[in-house]
Amino acid sequence: MKITYIGTAASEGLPALFCQCPICEAARKNGGKEIRGRAAVCVNETLLIDFPPDIYYGAMRAGVNLSKVLDIVGTHAHSDHFAPTELSCRLEPVLAKRIEKDQLHFYGNQRHGAQLNGTLPGAKDGHGENSGLVFDYAESFKPIETAAGIIVTPLPADHDKSQECRMMLLEEKSTGKTFLYAHDTGMFPESTMEFLKGKRCDLISLDCTNVMLGGDEDRNHMGIRTDVTMKNRLIENGTADENTRWICHHFSHNGFIPRGRVYPQDEFEAIAAGYGFTMSYDGMKVEI
Ligand SMILES: [Zn+2]
Ligand SMILES: [Zn+2]
Ligand SMILES: [Zn+2]
Repeated sequence: MKITYIGTAASEGLPALFCQCPICEAARKNGGKEIRGRAAVCVNETLLIDFPPDIYYGAMRAGVNLSKVLDIVGTHAHSDHFAPTELSCRLEPVLAKRIEKDQLHFYGNQRHGAQLNGTLPGAKDGHGENSGLVFDYAESFKPIETAAGIIVTPLPADHDKSQECRMMLLEEKSTGKTFLYAHDTGMFPESTMEFLKGKRCDLISLDCTNVMLGGDEDRNHMGIRTDVTMKNRLIENGTADENTRWICHHFSHNGFIPRGRVYPQDEFEAIAAGYGFTMSYDGMKVEI
């Protein structure tokens, strides 16, 4: 399974659009890995998790060809994970010319469906007019077959209670490799832990919005301390073992300044590594 991290920031991006905090100013000065777009990953070239507002530039920067994407699974419809306006660029013949009349499947919750229907009328009920896009409602615990040779199972996340928010379990059919993508979420809900019992994962990517802020059992989002708690719980749960690789991901500038103390991004990277976590960055590629 080949995974490319396209964007790795929380909702405001890093540097945040209008922010002059020391972390954002340092990112502007240092550039490179410290510049982060809104979060998404591409798997095996044809599968995307989420479709954020920075997808266009992020994909180009990461070497991802969006014209090859056949399936998108949406974790939830917050604006940093879902920018339906960008999908209108699939409209034919003016905005896109595709050689094959392939379809793009978007799997998501009811809010994704409603917003998609506003941008691409008809998408929710079948075909988005001229866009080749089809919306499919994704149910928790119900596996989705994708063209990437990967089965994706959406699992309940601990996040916005006004819509269904999900983390995604990915299983590659040809290799049996498994990847758990858990963003945005706090401590995992009981039903998700139950489902994951004994399902050993090769790679686990945990929400780290709060970075150095927050406690040992954060709700809604997590920081590194809660990531460590979740790591231990997942090992106890049989979802991970000593060979599982760990990534922390989806970072907010606010989290690098807990109670006035500033943690530069490279200092945090070393702290995360001390707990066995790789800090994601835009364009990072991982193979399992
Ligand atoms: Zn988010
Ligand atoms: Zn800032
Ligand atoms: Zn969110």
